This record gives sequence, structure tokens and C-alpha cells, in this order.
Amino acid sequence: MTCAPAPRLEIDLVKLSHNAGTLVSQLFERGISVTGVTKATLGLPEIVNTWLQAGVSGLGDSRVENIEAMRGSQIDASMTLIRTPMLSQVEKVVALANISFNTEMKVIRELSNAAKKANSIHKVVLMVELGDLREGIMPSLLKDSVREVCGLSNISFVGIGANLACRSGVSPDQRNMGELSALANSIDSDFGPIVEIVSGGNSANLEWALSGADTGRINNLRLGEALLLGCEPLHRKAIKGLYIDAISLVGEVIELKEKPAQSWGKVGQAAFGEVKSHGDQRTITQAIFALGRQDIDPDGLIPPPGLKILAASSDHLIVEVEDYFEEIKVGSEVCFQLNYSALLRAMTSPFIAKKFKTYKKD
Ligand SMILES: *Cc1c(COP(=O)(O)O)cnc(C)c1O
Repeated sequence: MTCAPAPRLEIDLVKLSHNAGTLVSQLFERGISVTGVTKATLGLPEIVNTWLQAGVSGLGDSRVENIEAMRGSQIDASMTLIRTPMLSQVEKVVALANISFNTEMKVIRELSNAAKKANSIHKVVLMVELGDLREGIMPSLLKDSVREVCGLSNISFVGIGANLACRSGVSPDQRNMGELSALANSIDSDFGPIVEIVSGGNSANLEWALSGADTGRINNLRLGEALLLGCEPLHRKAIKGLYIDAISLVGEVIELKEKPAQSWGKVGQAAFGEVKSHGDQRTITQAIFALGRQDIDPDGLIPPPGLKILAASSDHLIVEVEDYFEEIKVGSEVCFQLNYSALLRAMTSPFIAKKFKTYKKD
């Protein structure tokens, strides 16, 4: 292993390739393509190119800045903006994204104007509200929107989509996915066969999609978490056959001391809210890692057995070292696993280095 600074994310590209390839082929059998969602990685070229080689059909990001960065890294793929564009960014969206997800006619009209100026045609997917109450046009109003979009000179309507399980935790199932399929059929029967893309959702759709259920018209899913962490977000369960440790975080110990478990002195608020006195009379081995809330979500960090996370401030992660934990000293490196929330923050922290593993599997 080469030396890399701590803290660092260790990103195993072979495992990421396995995760992507496995899901791409399982979903392919059900007529579903995979859009790799790049937002949690800021469009990191090493990861994105690994996904493309593993067969994802395109890339999606919620921020046009990430799409711009991927274009700048010469990544050659279809890119979809999966959050409705800001009015203030329509020129950029038209210039950089092949497709955007939309719910507001005002925005789509401006996308058409921007595309006209750029002498191009911009593709639009209309997002439908199916009960999670995040983005989406109410189903009863969808056809009016389709009609209007089809009348715009520099917009091409290419399909519909939905997003569940993000705001309210509403699960994708036969009923709501069936409703999306029925909407696709109904648009086609009114307007002719114009619905090419029916994008059913995110990693939370996998349980439904791989259950053997009739997937109907759904022909695309947008996957981030499942590709990166091998995990589905509804029950935070590992997906069979995928690696859940393709990405880990290495932190370095900067203080190691025997200390009372219980703080002393008059107690007010701590930097990040209330602290409860727990009356713990023990003396413990306390380690501090050079990691903090700027770099990770402490609630989403999974330490190895024998370490227990006690607290975190902006720049200090405070951990109890239990007796059976391996030898640890100032300067020791320890490897943590991450959930999506911790991963998102670690990937976007400028203080965390990234190290890629590309060994050949034997
Ligand atoms: C983030 C996002 C996704 C990907 O979600 P995962 O749970 O990471 O698979 C898909 N669609 C939209 C609209 C998103 O914002």
C-alpha cells in the first residue's frame, strides 16, 4: 500500500465494479436499465468510469455543477439532471445535461427558450407525485403537462418518473409502480407512443424490482446508495451478492488517555446541544480521532468491534476503546464503515483524501 494521508476514504474500485455489474445484469433481465447516481461522489471520475465500464446506461446527478465537473473530466455518457432545474440555471442545464427531470411548466418553458438560443433540443422527463410528497406533478394533472411540454419548440418529452422513500419513507410497491406504468400507457394511448423512459425510482425500488413482481412499463432505475454501499435504504439491509465494504474511512488517533467516563464541573450546553449526565463511575480508555462533524455524520459511522463512538464535535471524534480492541496508540489508523449520510459528508469534505484500490481479484 502506498502512503496516503489520514483521514482518507479507501475506495475499492473492484468491489464497486462488482456491485454495479451485478445490479445491471439482474435488472437487465427485467428490462430495466441503471442510471448511476453520482451526487454522493461529486462525480468522481474513477467511480463514474468504473460504473460505465460495468454497464450503467447513463449518469444522473441532482446538481448541474457535478455534471459540469464530469463533462470537464471528459466523461463520455448521457447525463441527466435528476432534480428540477433552478430557473436561474436553465442555460447551464441545456448546455450540460442531455435530459432533465421537471415538474414546473415555468421552468420547462425557460428550458425551451434556452435551448432555442443554443440551437438545440433539450429532453425532459416529467416527475409524478406518487405519495412520498417530494417532487412530482399530481397524477390527475400529468396529461395537461405532457400536452404543454409537447407544444414547446425546443423540448422533447421523453418520459415520466417518480421518486419514493426519500421524504416520507413511502415504499415502492405493486400499487404505486403499477400506477406509474398505467400513466405511461395512458399517455401513449392519448398522444401516440412518446413515453420512452419510465424511471421508477432509486435504490429503495430494488426490493420491489428484484422480487419477481411484474415490472410493467418501468424500464429505468436511478441507483446511488446500492451501488456504493451494497445496501437498500428502506430497511438498510445488505443486498445479497453485493459488497457492503467497498468504501471505508480511515481515521488517525491524535490523543489516547485513561479518563473518567463521567465529565465533571457545572454543565451547560455542549457545542452540539444537550449532554445527559449518565453517572458512569468507570475509568475508560478514551481515544480522539482527527475527524469531526465537518467530515462525517457521527451517527452514520460504524466503528470496528471494540470501539464505541461517544461523541463528536466539529473536529474531534471521541471514542471509547474497549479492553479487547487491538493495540492502539497515538498515530494509529483505524478503519470505519459508513452509512449513506456519513459517506455523503465524507465524500464532500475537502479534508478527506481519497485512495483508490484497483487490485486484480484472484
Ligand atoms: C439521490 C437520488 C436518487 C438516488 O438515490 P439512492 O437512494 O442513492 O439510490 C435517485 N433519484 C433521485 C431523484 C435522487 O435525488
